[in-house]
Formats: sequence, structure tokens, C-alpha cells
Amino acid sequence: MKFWCLSSIILVHIKDSYEERTRRILCKNYPKIFRDRNAPMTHTAMCWGFECSSGWYDIINSMCRAMQSHIDHSRNNRARALRYNRAVNRAMKGDLEPLTKYYTFGKGINSRVYAENSVKQEISNGLKLRNVPTACPQVIATQVKEKFGTLRFYYYGGDDYCRGVESMAESMSAVTCEECGNHGKLLTQGWYRTLCEIHAKEQNYDWNTEEEDEDQTSE
Ligand SMILES: [Zn+2]
Repeated sequence: MKFWCLSSIILVHIKDSYEERTRRILCKNYPKIFRDRNAPMTHTAMCWGFECSSGWYDIINSMCRAMQSHIDHSRNNRARALRYNRAVNRAMKGDLEPLTKYYTFGKGINSRVYAENSVKQEISNGLKLRNVPTACPQVIATQVKEKFGTLRFYYYGGDDYCRGVESMAESMSAVTCEECGNHGKLLTQGWYRTLCEIHAKEQNYDWNTEEEDEDQTSE
């Protein structure tokens, strides 16, 4: 009995430290998305941390990676277009150096020759300003939790692309065990949960009475 109690405590401790480590990694990998992780509860629900188990962390990680790379890419595109337009404005006034620098990659002589040729080409085509694309607003998480058996990610910022990624993540959580990340299904007996067969049985759900939703792929 004593051994059982001790091993349970150790298992709980290992699980907690694994979950805590994974949460720290998510916050470290995506500091802009989880910048309110330690903000007061009057400001955000992120102060409660990630209110779901670690089986979904790969989904959260992939979702955050897709969102942040999209945001960074859109911001870089905007900054590049603004820089180009500033250089063209200077070129129109006779100063070709900023536009030459814009086309210079690296320090080699070939890079300088390439840049000067590019500027000549631009001038022969007639200098024109580029359209400046809109940058995607930074996504800031306000709550990450399980609700009705699936993942919910609440945030502000983002755009249609981010909303699509979030929707995909929620769909993936409905077929992924929240405890271990293996293939699972949404169980609707009592408290809704998405679990694999092993964890469903461990938590006294009747795995066999619930069929997987075959209609999901037929539409
Ligand atoms: Zn499982």
C-alpha cells in the first residue's frame, strides 16, 4: 500500500513536471503569442495556463508555428515594400544608393554588379512605387482550454489565415487523445472528452458504444 502511494505520487510528479516543461517550451517558442502568460487575471485568462492535457501540445505547437510564421512573413513583406518605396522615392530625386543597397545581397563584387544592373533595369522600365501589403496583426492568446471535449484557443489579432489554422487545430483535437496524443475519438457519455481506447477505459468510458463520425469525410 505504501509502495502504491509512493509510486502514485512519483507518477503525478513526473506527469506534472512533463506538462510544466511542455508549457514552458510553448511559451518560450512563441513569446509573442503567449506574451500575456503572466499578466493579471483582470487582463487575461492565460494566467491560468494551458487548461488541457499534454496530448494536445503537438497540435498547439503546430498551430502556433503556422500562425507565427504567417505573421512574420506578412510583416517582412510589408517592411520590404516600404523600404523599396522609400528607395524609389530617393531614386526619383537622383540618389540611386538606397535602391542599389536594396538589391545588394552580401558583400561580394558580384552582388554590387547585380544590384547596379537591377537599378539600371528599374530606371529603364520607369520607376514605380509598389503596393504595400497589410501586415497580419500579432496573435495574442487569451485562453487555451478544453471545452466539450475539444481544444479551444481564444485570442485577439490574426486574420482569416489564422482563423483557418485555429479551426483546423480544433478539428484535429477531436480525433486526438487529450492525455497521450494517440488517435482518439470524442466520447459523449457524461463529461465530453476525446480519448484513445486505453485512456477511455482507464477513465471508465464505454469505448465501444460510441462510433467515430464517418460523416466527417463524406461531405
Ligand atoms: Zn490516450
